[in-house]
Amino acid sequence: MKVGILGAGQLGRMLAQAGTSLGHHFRFLDPATEISAAGLGEHHCAAFEDVDALAQFADGLDVVTYEFENVPVESARWLAERLPVHPNPEALRVAQDRLFEKTAFNDHQIPTADFAAVYYRDEFDAAVARMGLPVVIKTRRFGYDGKGQRVARTSAEKDAAWKDLRGVPLFVEKFVPFQRELSIIAARSGNGAFVAWPLVENHHRTGILRLSLAPAEAVAATLQQAAESCARRWMEAVGYVGVLAIEFFEVNGELVANEMAPRVHNSGHWTMDSQGASQFANHVRAITDASLERTDGPGATAMINLIGDLPCAGAFAAAEAVGGRVHLYGKSPRAGRKIGHSNVGADDFPALMSKLKALAPKLAISELTEVLETRGVR
Ligand code: AMP
Repeated sequence: MKVGILGAGQLGRMLAQAGTSLGHHFRFLDPATEISAAGLGEHHCAAFEDVDALAQFADGLDVVTYEFENVPVESARWLAERLPVHPNPEALRVAQDRLFEKTAFNDHQIPTADFAAVYYRDEFDAAVARMGLPVVIKTRRFGYDGKGQRVARTSAEKDAAWKDLRGVPLFVEKFVPFQRELSIIAARSGNGAFVAWPLVENHHRTGILRLSLAPAEAVAATLQQAAESCARRWMEAVGYVGVLAIEFFEVNGELVANEMAPRVHNSGHWTMDSQGASQFANHVRAITDASLERTDGPGATAMINLIGDLPCAGAFAAAEAVGGRVHLYGKSPRAGRKIGHSNVGADDFPALMSKLKALAPKLAISELTEVLETRGVR
């Protein structure tokens, strides 16, 4: 099939790599001139809002998908009137706005922290007074990788956060004292088939994912089922086709949903080197009406993001020395920029910890050291 992807970043690149092996052809629409997906299909370099460019992009395609959630909903809808667009642009609309997202979670019995949408100072003060400090203040739209948000633990921090963020629609949320952050990646096809990968444990710094451990350690079967049924309920409700990620906080053995991404997700990159299907292959399978592949398999994997300001050459060598695989995105290094990731696999969790112990001194990733320390691996 001829598949169009809105966006040509690393997710587009990895979707096309997986899809090319399945015999599909790709075309990208992305206003950037330098794209991570270069060489994997035609690149239409134009704004997403440009209707002529959308028409040229759509010409001859069988299906369209997207690889990042800030694609204008109107553009996705324009395309959906002419050819299949998966996931449904309604999922995009909901995921773009924290108010719509959290409301949708609650409407589908997916638990969240207490929240309020605010614009004026009196609304903001009233919301914080009702919830009580600490709170997290976020912009309602276009927040990603921790940008556009502040934690306020004191009244002074609350005032400072208001000064920094005001002027755009804001979102106030009760701070969740979580034990860990988990995510579920699931795929659904047009005929309703559903698969999910095991819950993954995620470690962020400054809002950027640094490290994922898959499967997350010591997850009760009931927690896995709860996460899967959250994803399934929402996907069925919107007629979702493709891969979805939901990020949760784990609080005393319960899940509290934070956000969702209507696309393949960084915390699912480990699946590229797992024994089951990769998230990229299953996304392409779902949107091209092929059957979904199994997601289960033995072993444990650590996915380590390679961020641009790391000593990358050393990181590759270190990962490869313990049998890890490095995936680069064809991007030039820059501080804070994700330029690749490495998947380090082992037969089980203890064996994975031993490999990470050998790796930790060679990588300047504090999350790795913390993961080992909290588990008593020295
Ligand atoms: P987000 O932009 O919503 O993905 O948030 C980025 C990161 O901020 C999350 O991965 C959490 O580590 C933290 N965070 C966000 N919301 C909350 C919350 N309500 N309580 C505690 N931590 C939060």
